[in-house]
Amino acid sequence: MKFNTKVIHGGQHHEAVTGAVNVPLFLTSTFAQKSPGEHSGYEYSRAANPTRQALEDALASIENGARGLAFGSGLAAIDCVLKLLNPGDEVIACDDLYGGSYRMFVRLFEKYQLKFHFVNMENTENITEKITAKTKLIWLETPTNPLMKLIDIKAVCQAVSGKGILVAVDNTFASPYLQNPLDLGADIVMHSATKYIGGHSDIIAGALIAKTPELGEQLHFIQFASGAILGPHDSYLALRGIKTLAIRMQRHSENGLKVAEFLQNHPMIKEVIYPGLSNHPQHELAKSQMRNGFGGMVTFTFRSGKKEDAIKFLENLKVFTLAESLGGVESLANHPALMTHASIPAEKRAEIGITDDLVRLSVGIEDIEDLLTDIDNALKA
Ligand SMILES: *Cc1c(COP(=O)(O)O)cnc(C)c1O
Repeated sequence: MKFNTKVIHGGQHHEAVTGAVNVPLFLTSTFAQKSPGEHSGYEYSRAANPTRQALEDALASIENGARGLAFGSGLAAIDCVLKLLNPGDEVIACDDLYGGSYRMFVRLFEKYQLKFHFVNMENTENITEKITAKTKLIWLETPTNPLMKLIDIKAVCQAVSGKGILVAVDNTFASPYLQNPLDLGADIVMHSATKYIGGHSDIIAGALIAKTPELGEQLHFIQFASGAILGPHDSYLALRGIKTLAIRMQRHSENGLKVAEFLQNHPMIKEVIYPGLSNHPQHELAKSQMRNGFGGMVTFTFRSGKKEDAIKFLENLKVFTLAESLGGVESLANHPALMTHASIPAEKRAEIGITDDLVRLSVGIEDIEDLLTDIDNALKA
């Protein structure tokens, strides 16, 4: 099956009893048993629920994995991966990391004696330098948030192969339409399904997709034992979101490129960071690692370098909404230093390049003319 067909049919079946084309909402906590221990395959909805199962099968299909798992949030999915580890284990993570992941690693898991190294993974050598006998997990995002750096997934996997180290990729920014990390050698893919997978800014949800059934089973055990499952209503919405993922991502990518090109030619703008631009330092890697386009996330800075200019611009947008998050059909604008990345200490932000004049756009699927006019007007203001 090719991708556009997969998002609609992959892993999916009609409901067995009535033939309902869409798997219904199974609003039940428990399932009747014929005789003690003799059941339909479903016992209790924390372990499995048919609506969530339909979503999980679709997730496994679109990421080419053995098993999908759906969580109550993206962070709950990350939490599940970290619980594979034992005290004393070490993790190497990319330095330009989603703020909430950084907060979880440093403020929750360090106190359970996990050790985190944050490195610039554009250069794979920075990873190999930090590997010790205790290294058990590599955690990376590509493209990164918000600096849109790319990490060569295949090179990272080759660098650690045979060492008993798992590679997990947060694929939220690219979505499975643009990039499938398991095909490039990763062991686990993670998504904040709140973003492109859900696609309508109406749910908080997370996903893991495991390359092998064994790893899928281990992660399912942790999910079952810790309890951070996605409920049936939100599972239904996420599954509905997946059906239009390909067509939405196509438009996000077309609009993203046009917005990036427009900003690049605007006199008030200093730097535009978008992997689809030929001047992006890793444009060649983007072309080989991603497919079908480069997504809807565009980051830029002001020629003046002034925080006030960024704030004024954000206050004057009318079609773009000033809000955290990304990946919905509507265009959003964000000021990372004051909003999504405020939990990262200022010195650390400066070190990695999240300056106070930096703006991140999540370009939606509206008419491009309206988006460009909105940006132009807000820059004039
Ligand atoms: C939003 C986001 C998360 C966290 O997901 P939630 O659903 O908000 O818990 C993790 N990684 C990335 C890249 C994100 O954008």
